[in-house]
Parts: sequence; structure tokens; C-alpha cells
Amino acid sequence: MQIFDRVDSLKGVGPKTAVLFEKLKVHTIDDLLRLYPRTYLSYDEPVNIEEAECGTRVTIKATIQSYVDIKKIRNLKIVTCMVKDGTGTVKLIWFNSPFLKQVFHIGQTYYFVGMMSVRNNQRVMEHPEYYTQTQYMEKLSSLQPVYPLTEGLSNKVVTKAMYAALPLLSELEDRIPEKVREKFGLMPLADAIQGSHFPENFDEVIACRERLVFDEFFWFILHMRILRKKTVKVENHFVIDKWKETEEFISQLPFELTKGQKTAIEEIRKDMTGSTVMNRLIQGDVGSGKTIVAEIALLSAVKNGYQAAFMAPTEVLATQHYKGVKKDLESFGVKVELLVGSTKISQKRKIYDALARGEIDILIGTHALIQDKVVYNNLALVITDEQHRFGVRQRALLSEKGNEPHVLVMSATPIPRTLAIIMYGDLDISIMKDMPANRKPIKNCVVGPKYRPTAYKFMQDEISRGHQIYIICPMVEASENVEAENVVEYQENLLNVFPKDISVSYLHGKMSPDEKNQIMHDFSEKKIDILVSTTVIEVGINNPNATVMMIENAEKFGLAQLHQLRGRVGRGDAQSYCIMLCGTERKEALERLNVLNTSNDGFHIANEDLKLRGPGDFFGVRQSGDLLFQLGDIYNNANTLKMANDAIDFLEQEEYSFEILMEDCKLNNIQL
Ligand code: ADP
Ligand code: MG
Repeated sequence: MQIFDRVDSLKGVGPKTAVLFEKLKVHTIDDLLRLYPRTYLSYDEPVNIEEAECGTRVTIKATIQSYVDIKKIRNLKIVTCMVKDGTGTVKLIWFNSPFLKQVFHIGQTYYFVGMMSVRNNQRVMEHPEYYTQTQYMEKLSSLQPVYPLTEGLSNKVVTKAMYAALPLLSELEDRIPEKVREKFGLMPLADAIQGSHFPENFDEVIACRERLVFDEFFWFILHMRILRKKTVKVENHFVIDKWKETEEFISQLPFELTKGQKTAIEEIRKDMTGSTVMNRLIQGDVGSGKTIVAEIALLSAVKNGYQAAFMAPTEVLATQHYKGVKKDLESFGVKVELLVGSTKISQKRKIYDALARGEIDILIGTHALIQDKVVYNNLALVITDEQHRFGVRQRALLSEKGNEPHVLVMSATPIPRTLAIIMYGDLDISIMKDMPANRKPIKNCVVGPKYRPTAYKFMQDEISRGHQIYIICPMVEASENVEAENVVEYQENLLNVFPKDISVSYLHGKMSPDEKNQIMHDFSEKKIDILVSTTVIEVGINNPNATVMMIENAEKFGLAQLHQLRGRVGRGDAQSYCIMLCGTERKEALERLNVLNTSNDGFHIANEDLKLRGPGDFFGVRQSGDLLFQLGDIYNNANTLKMANDAIDFLEQEEYSFEILMEDCKLNNIQL
């Protein structure tokens, strides 16, 4: 057995389990070893029932006091049982586990582990784990990995497979050059992987993760540097110097462009008429008006006789851009098409043909735009929106389309300048600092769940003024282990809270693209008053008529992500509001949220966030919500990012061949 063998060659992993692993993108044993725990559970000494803190996971040692009771409610079996210790009683609740009647008998003592809460003055624990004395003694003071799972695949199965895979770590080759490992004091890769799965304590987890995050950043930055060498100072094959129609378009806009927009457009114009090709990043806070700048660049390319492509990270956003660009530019005789994953095959074929013949001027879509099948006639400009959602690889593919086109990328992620230079080292940067003049600053509040009825009343008033509402929940469906609001049940509950004529819908990432598009369409047509959604809504959605954003369990989100979410309102001239509902009273959580409460400035927030969190603070929430890295987070791991950058600088000084290193990275199956 070897490390790149399929995962079902491991003892105890059958073909059925292998199919489930595929869903987690685990094909080989190597992939399995890189499936890192989401978090770890620790098993501590039991606490007295009376002293157990509510809202936290605790262990109690308690004696069964009552018979196990089973009630049927619709198709749900609710199993309850009372237990006690010397200080108090707890009601234990399980769903659909009737066999427990045979397990628990009055007088027996067990260790129960779960979230303590209080209902009707009675302490309760839902779905506690239970252990006998001997079982619990084995677990005591150890850390148990909790893996990302999929339906049918249990944490137990993954853990067992992982144990079986560990011996193969000795075959793993460390591709980071020896010199770098020495100079930066990196621990051996195999140790880092093993320690990430089965650590003895949290300090070990932190040290191991740091090594793994270092690797992620190292390969990423290396790729960037190679890209920079390739793209800097490439000759401009597409001189775009006819700007008559563009100026006309600008003069017809119903608003005055901001200073930031004007400067960005000027810089783009200079780039595209210059002697070398454009490689530019536009960084502007949410709502600063990046789309119109993109439209202006697109129109200019087309009016100089070329094609242009506009790529967005989600179908919903791509569709929104398609509609907007079509509406704004069609009167200028521009032919626009949409190409996304769910476009019908027959339609796709038509688009490929028309595109190759030059009959389409602007193609808008998701990463479907950069597939091999898509051949352009004379592509002069590619733009990506929400760049931070794409990997560097996708950006490279995009600039490899056609014959070295101009590249413009847009991002709202407020990255402090030092980090931006590392992340986007190959790009010139335009920063749009100011907001359109008609905007009123968003009014914020951070409140507890008790405030909910007041918030609903407030929403009803806003709806009666013709406005619309977003409510964000962290989860799609109810889950056993996590106490957080979920969109499906939440929407059902709201139907009982609001009068019948207020329409409430929900949106989440597991819905089909068609369903999602339909909901977004209905929302923009004002057929939906309240949209309950997961964070799928976060990326770039624009509905200036929405004025209230309420975020449930706000403590579960990173600050940068909360700021993006909040940016969905305050996009028109009406006063907008952001209500952050905090599900905990923990001081740190409130302190963090207070940063957002007192500032609407994304750059300020990002900097405060860096100050508030120490390095290695990655068990909380991921800050950026980016999909770029598996473990690394440019905010939380800012120091490791700098270290990886220093390592690459060091190799450059040593005149190490990046290309050979890159080959190594491919050999090691590293995904970029
Ligand atoms: P983002 O930078 O977050 O992508 P958008 O480009 O979606 O922001 O713009 C948000 C809203 O602001 C849109 O409805 C857009 O029409 C409007 N807008 C853009 N520029 C201006 C401006 N200079 N003055 C007034 N409104 C503007
Ligand atoms: Mg946008």
C-alpha cells in the first residue's frame, strides 16, 4: 500500500465508504491525510450540575432518576430521562433514539457530555453523548478530532480510517526546500499532519497548524511570483484608445461618479492605451460602485472592436451582472451573453459558435468562461468580480485565454496594504475610498435574542414603506450538534409571526442554481419582502431597495464577513439598518461586534480585527470567508503569511529556480 493509492485500499474502508469520501474530495490516502479536523472536542473532569454554565459544552456525572419516557410527535420520537447528582437535576432529551429505553435504568451512573441549557426553569441537555466510567476515563484529557462529514459518513469511520492511514506518513516527501525549513524553524511535515489529527493538547494543534498554513501560503505566493514574472511588461496587443462612446455613456449616467471611480477609470484608460498590458486590481469597499467602473471598461473594449469577458464567482451574481450590463449597454449596440454552469448544452453550443465568430461582444458568467471549450475571437479584456473568491490559478487561466488580454480584477475584501502587496503582488492597485454621495451611513445595533420581537415590529414598518429585508442565519437546516438558527425552520416560523400579506422566502447554497436565480429574481422584482438566507447572499448582490439586514448568531461570523453582509443594505438613498443579534453574552464576542457597531469603514474594521485577535487564533470564525485556502486565513494567520513571503524572498536571493519548485508542488498534489 502506498500513499497515493485509493482510499479504499486502507483496511476497514470499503467501496461504499470510498464513494462517501469522494463527496469530500478524498480520493487517495494522501487526500485523506489532508482532510483536517474542523475542530476538536476535549473531555474534561465532570462539573456539578448546579454549577454547569449554560450555553457551553460540559460533562456531568449523574445517576438515572426516572424511567426513560418516549413521546411521539408526528413522525418524531422524543426520548427523555431525568438524571441527578448531589447538586441538582437535568432533563436529558434525544430525538429518534428509542433504543435508549434498553440502555438506561434507574440507579445507574453515567458521564453525560453536551450543551447545558435551561427551559421552563429546568436544566436540559439535548442529545448528550454518554459514557460509562471506564469509557470516560479513557477519553479524559484527550482531544478528539471532529471531521467535516457528509451524510452516511460518521466521525467514527473517518477517525478509524485516519488511524489506518497514519503509518503511510513516513512515505510523505516534504517539498519545502531544506534550507527554508531550517532557516524558518519549520517542524517536519509528517509530524504536523499527524499532530493535527491526534494532538495531545491545543498548543500542539496550534504549532502543527502553523506549519500546514505556512505550506499553503508558500505555494500560493510562489505561484503568484511566477505569474508576475510572466505578466509584467507584456506588450499591449490591444490598444484601446477610442473613448467617444464611453464618454457619452458616462455623461448619460443618472449620477455623478465619485472621485475614486473617476480616478480608477483614468488609470484603466492609461493602462489600456499604454505600451504594456493592464494588470490591475480595484479595491473598493462594499457599495463603492465597482460594477459601473467594470461596465465602462467593457464598453471601451467593445467600441474599439474587441471582445471582453466578465467573470463572477457565483451564478446568482453572474446573472445579476448579465442583466445589469445588458440593460446599461445594449442601447450602445453591444451584444451581451450569459454563460454559467447551468446553461443548457444546446445554448452553450450556440454561444461557443457565436463567440468564435465574434458575434458576441461581452460574455458574462462563472468560471465556465475559462473552460477549454470557450474560444474567443479577439478577446482584449477580462474582468473578475469578487476576486478574493477565486484562486490564483483561475486568474492565471483567465489571462491565458486569447492573446494576452488586459486583466482587471475587483475585490471588496478590505486587506491592509502590507497583506495586499503579498496577496496581489503582481497587480497595480487602484483604491476607491469614497462612497456615492447619496448614501446615508448605515445605522447599526448589537442586541440579544430578547430584542427579536422589537426587530420584527421594526421590519414590518419598513415593509409598509415599500422596503425589503434580509435575515441571515448561519445554518441551512437544523443540526444536532450546533445551536444556531437555520434558514429553513426560521422561514417557517416567520410565516406565523408576520401577517399573511408579507411574503417570506429562503435561500441557501444547497438549492439548485435555477431555484436560487428565481428567488433572487423575485426579490429584485419586490415579490419577496423578507429573504431569509445563509451567507450565499454575501457576494456582491445588489438590491438598493433592501434597507434592513438582520444577522442571527452574529458572533459566529468573522468581522470582515459581517461587513460584507451588512454591505447588502445601504446601497440606495434610503436610510438602512443592520441589526446584529448576538447569541452569547461572552465579553470577547461583544467587543468584536462592537467594532462593527461603531464603524462602517471596511479598512478600519480589518485593522481592528487584526489587533483584537492574537496569532494562531483560528478556532473561532474564519475571518474572510474566502475559499482560497483550506486552513489559512489571511487575517488570523497574517504573521505566517508574512513568514511565507519572507521565505520566497530568501529563495529568490539564493537564486533558487521557482519553476523546479513549482514542479515539486505539482508532484505533491497540492491544489492551488
Ligand atoms: P460594489 O462596489 O459593492 O460592487 P455596486 O457596483 O454594486 O457596488 O454599486 C452599488 C449601487 O450603487 C448600485 O445600485 C449602483 O448603481 C450605485 N452607484 C454606483 N456608483 C454610484 C454613484 N457614483 N452615485 C450613486 N450611485 C452609484
Ligand atoms: Mg460588487
